[in-house]
Amino acid sequence: MKVGILSFQGSFLDHSKSVKAINAKPILIKNKLDIHELDALILPGGESTAMKKINEYSDIFLELDKFIKSGKPTLSTCAGTILLAKAVVGGDTVIPNIDIEITRNAYGRQTESFEGSVSFYNNEDIYCFIRAPKITKILSDKVKVIAQHNSEVVGVQQDNIVALTFHPELNNDRYYLDWLESFIKEGENVGTF
Ligand code: GLN
Repeated sequence: MKVGILSFQGSFLDHSKSVKAINAKPILIKNKLDIHELDALILPGGESTAMKKINEYSDIFLELDKFIKSGKPTLSTCAGTILLAKAVVGGDTVIPNIDIEITRNAYGRQTESFEGSVSFYNNEDIYCFIRAPKITKILSDKVKVIAQHNSEVVGVQQDNIVALTFHPELNNDRYYLDWLESFIKEGENVGTF
């Protein structure tokens, strides 16, 4: 299985470790992309404004948009989730594919980053929130809540896309890795996963 990871900047190397840990092959996407060779896609955390700027030199986002719309498994964390939101408070929409409104830097500045208990599908664990955004509105009933922290929504699934505001790739706990493996293996059936 080949998993494309957007690698302009941010936590792409941590995602690459997760992908290797489940015996799949990470493909670091930097300046060119053949979407036909990919089985799944990960959009990492980092800085969404920087990613948008870097994309101006390659326009890879157009290709990513096609890949996401083709229905293949797509995971986003933090800044990656900002890229996919249909409405962005404090920023621009970039590759709008999920029916959520997201508010950038909603917990405050970098020093307000924290670790907190998160329910993620059927598991509870401590995960990092790094200058994280908040999912402030759910804009359609296609969006399922799949992760919560202090009864706030911190992860959603819409068809083939799972979008999180925290960083499971920094834990690589057994539950997350098993989930990632089965998510990727579902392929085009992932929308019913
Ligand atoms: N604050 C960043 C942004 O707005 C997101 C932070 C992260 O991805 N850890 O893009």
